[in-house]
Amino acid sequence: MTALLEVEDLGVSFDTPRGTVRAVDGITFTVEAGRTLGLVGESGSGKSVTSLAVMGLHRGARVGGSIRLNGQELNGLGERELGTVRGRRIAMIFQDPLSSLHPFYPVGEQIAEHYRVHFKASRKAGRQRAVEMLAEVGIPEPARRVDEYPHQFSGGMRQRVMIAMALACEPELLIADEPTTALDVTVQAQILDLIARIQQERGLGVVMITHDLGVVARVAHEVLVMYGGRAAEQAPVERLFATPAHPYTRGLLDSLPRLDDTDDAPLRAIPGSPPSLIAPAPGCSFAPRCVRTAAATAEEHARCLSERPEFGPLAPGHQAACHLPLVPEGALG
Ligand code: SF4
Ligand code: MG
Repeated sequence: MTALLEVEDLGVSFDTPRGTVRAVDGITFTVEAGRTLGLVGESGSGKSVTSLAVMGLHRGARVGGSIRLNGQELNGLGERELGTVRGRRIAMIFQDPLSSLHPFYPVGEQIAEHYRVHFKASRKAGRQRAVEMLAEVGIPEPARRVDEYPHQFSGGMRQRVMIAMALACEPELLIADEPTTALDVTVQAQILDLIARIQQERGLGVVMITHDLGVVARVAHEVLVMYGGRAAEQAPVERLFATPAHPYTRGLLDSLPRLDDTDDAPLRAIPGSPPSLIAPAPGCSFAPRCVRTAAATAEEHARCLSERPEFGPLAPGHQAACHLPLVPEGALG
């Protein structure tokens, strides 16, 4: 069976005065219709670049590997052909809806414009569609609010408008890049639940890009953890939370706020900074920050510093790139 989205050995690099940046290096994943892939990592991990490459928005960068949507290769398509994919078959929402919404036009017109362009629909049909979409994303009084401007909506309501705009053309795939990062926690949960509901109703494939494993726990079915432009670990969501194999994933999990934490307990961030994408050191790119190397033998440590770990299977559906995975291989079922 062909998956909705199949990304294979994706590489994205671009030249800078300081050298070639390998922003994404050998990423492989699939997204099935009706499923959500959580793409997780710190800033600079390559998660946003991955999604821009899928959207064909990687101007000036070299893209290698394969990006197939329902079997159709997208890598290498011209701008015109991509225009029929973007917005229509793959839609995207971002952290800051204001950067995507025009301040001087009513939200209804912006939703309708999108729809009218792709479906060559009349003005009236476009407006009707905008009202329907505002209702679907839970905006009260949609027939009135369709004529309001972005500044008349709260942050959470604006993100709902963005989702309405993204879904107006019935895309097969939705890419959501940190869609709730700018919102407060309660609103965040509402938006994530909205995305999950719409996804179920429409059988939409979703790529949820986030630095927050809490978001992943709420919406994702599968998770791909990226580090320094490469895949660190991939697993079904329950498994990743129960038995993370990569020390980086473990660190991300440890830095999640816990219910039994007292209010003033500091969050444990992973010390250190992301690796250089221009001149990566040999060996494992996580080694300078990895607590596991402290417990390793001198020989194991030397291997971490000299040999890049392959991304390999630990169990069905579970892969990690680590010489010393946290779960002993024999213990996996
Ligand atoms: Fe840590 Fe070594 Fe695994 Fe890299 S390969 S994550 S340095 S244990
Ligand atoms: Mg980003």
